[in-house]
Amino acid sequence: MSRSVNFLLVEDNAGDAFLVKDALENGAIPSTVAVVHDGAAALTRLGDKAQASPDLIILDLNLPKLDGRQVLDALKAHPDWCHIPVVMFSSSDAHNDIVECYRRGASCYVPKPMGLDRFRAVIRSVERFWLEVARLP
Ligand SMILES: [Mg+2]
Repeated sequence: MSRSVNFLLVEDNAGDAFLVKDALENGAIPSTVAVVHDGAAALTRLGDKAQASPDLIILDLNLPKLDGRQVLDALKAHPDWCHIPVVMFSSSDAHNDIVECYRRGASCYVPKPMGLDRFRAVIRSVERFWLEVARLP
């Protein structure tokens, strides 16, 4: 892609948010990462016409105000947002959580790995797949 990619990262854990943003912004493809810390803030940001629409959303599952499931429902029900790929990124590796997110229209589900090196490697893999292998809308 020739232009910079806009990510929206919805993550309430400040440490995880920093690591994801840092890994994406220092990756091979120019990108900007907007970070919001709860589900309600994600929908507010998406509804703000002054902000660029994200090309890809990275969504935590357990969040204050609206959780990841509720955010997914709102995204998939909205004509301007339903096409945006959503990568779930959660510390939960529970089968029920994974199935529920796919049912609600998640594009993929990535469990947060343990350990800094593995964490960065997984974010790199997500970036590679979505920006180099797949085509964004
Ligand atoms: Mg969380």
